[in-house]
Amino acid sequence: MSDAIAVVGSVAFDTIETPTGRADEVLGGSATHFAIAASYFAPVHLVAVVGDDFPAAEREFLAARGIDLAGLEVRAGRTFRWSGRYHEDLNVRDTLKLELNVFADFQPHLRDATRQAPFVFLANIDPALQEGVLAQFTAPALVACDTMNHWIESTRGPLEALLPKIELLIVNDEEARLLSGETNIPRAARRILALGPKQVLVKRGEYGAILFSADSVFAVPAYPLEEVFDPTGAGDSFAGGVLGYLASSGDRSEAGLRRAIVYGSVLASYIVEDFGSRRFRTLSRDDIERRYRQFVALTEF
Ligand code: AMP
Repeated sequence: MSDAIAVVGSVAFDTIETPTGRADEVLGGSATHFAIAASYFAPVHLVAVVGDDFPAAEREFLAARGIDLAGLEVRAGRTFRWSGRYHEDLNVRDTLKLELNVFADFQPHLRDATRQAPFVFLANIDPALQEGVLAQFTAPALVACDTMNHWIESTRGPLEALLPKIELLIVNDEEARLLSGETNIPRAARRILALGPKQVLVKRGEYGAILFSADSVFAVPAYPLEEVFDPTGAGDSFAGGVLGYLASSGDRSEAGLRRAIVYGSVLASYIVEDFGSRRFRTLSRDDIERRYRQFVALTEF
């Protein structure tokens, strides 16, 4: 039996423009992408808030993936909305609109079953809120966390207070640079480790990901796709694959973590094949295993 994972973050409707097309009000949010990806491996408790406009069909989709929605609060008002436009270089995106709506005064109080979860993912939200949530867990075995430019720039104090309580910080290269003040990624990682997390996992989009800890480095490429439709949620589903595999295997060794990072890369490579989280509507566990084997072949020499 896999250990449970709790995730706190956003559930949203996203409007996305990429060089290949556009999608309006598709199911998104950092916690959503993470939860769906992780649900292929382990039971997931989703802690988030939606408005009373959140459709029953979306709830049913999440529940059908085995995601526990007892912690998905429904408040009077509108669900969080985000809208973004990607450049030709898909690593660059502009946020066009951010409507917090019911998310604005989200103060999660975890249920007992959720507090017991050994794996915790603090998806991208205000670091003070991340810390408040973390304090509610009884004995988390592994805590991972994400953040973004906005929080690094506007709430550095609370973020630096949170980092020593984190085992695994998952950030992209731009965030790593901003957080550390270093351009070179290995140097940036070294500085971030000095802020407290045991390990830092830097996502580099189409260039893959690198895991740094005090005494080791591990790099994995991204799956070479000929067409990327929409990178939204790639980082969150990467994290979902990593924690999902760790929770399902119970293997916390360095080798187990390396395998988990390959699973994360597999999930990220699938979500970008369609807008929002649509690709997950048809993705099977067999698809995941097939691409995992392709990853092994890709990096064997
Ligand atoms: P990613 O592409 O992995 O950075 O994640 C994109 C997801 O994050 C989208 O589905 C958005 O709904 C969500 N998102 C964007 N901005 C924020 C924010 N400020 N707080 C929480 N979630 C956000």
